[in-house]
Amino acid sequence: MTYDHILPVSKNGETSYDNLCLACRTCNEFKGDVTEAIDPLLGETTALFNPRTQKWSEHFAWSLDGTRVEGLTAVGRATVARLRMNNPVIIVARGRWVISGWHPPKD
Ligand SMILES: [Zn+2]
Repeated sequence: MTYDHILPVSKNGETSYDNLCLACRTCNEFKGDVTEAIDPLLGETTALFNPRTQKWSEHFAWSLDGTRVEGLTAVGRATVARLRMNNPVIIVARGRWVISGWHPPKD
């Protein structure tokens, strides 16, 4: 895991608890220094998910087979798209985690 600045340093984001979250390297690199993205369903720009102020389960759900993150809201869909949270590499990994009983998380 890596530390992500929710509001990027390039946009005057602080290195503080309220502005940091853990992210895998892939998500962090695809997020880059953006704070908003396009919701692929509505075609409108919206803020990315903020794990410090928003609840994951209100914006995302796991697919029935546990391999894909589904966006439930504009924020969720835009975040899934921007961070490429369903890239082919992670889908294969999640499939193996499901078989092993490690995934999806129970909460
Ligand atoms: Zn990730």
